[in-house]
Amino acid sequence: MARRALQVCPTPGCPRLTKAGRCADCVAKAAASRPSASAKGYDRAWQRTRAAYLMANPYCGCEECARFPELLRPRATEVDHKDGLGPLGPRGHDWSNLVGMTKSHHSRKTAREQPGGWNDREPR
Ligand SMILES: [Zn+2]
Ligand SMILES: [Zn+2]
Repeated sequence: MARRALQVCPTPGCPRLTKAGRCADCVAKAAASRPSASAKGYDRAWQRTRAAYLMANPYCGCEECARFPELLRPRATEVDHKDGLGPLGPRGHDWSNLVGMTKSHHSRKTAREQPGGWNDREPR
């Protein structure tokens, strides 16, 4: 049986030995420096807004689904911001700025808007 050799942590300047990937210290540091979802406004207040919105607007409202009557649309599980600015934007909790979407339709829309950002298309 081959012994697993220890490697030096791949983080520049970190001398610690580790079995695979970064050492525990660097992993913890990276997790702490990443902005958390709540720092971007996805906090308890947003959870409430989102839940209330989905109660009132339970069906997917993406561009494709919007053409169909509500009862033919899949159920929305996520809420998208039309202005692309998220809960911290000036209309982050404004229902007229929100659209409920299924997870897959939401990622399809997000993918289509990358990398041009939220401002590269004329509103229809
Ligand atoms: Zn390290
Ligand atoms: Zn949809």
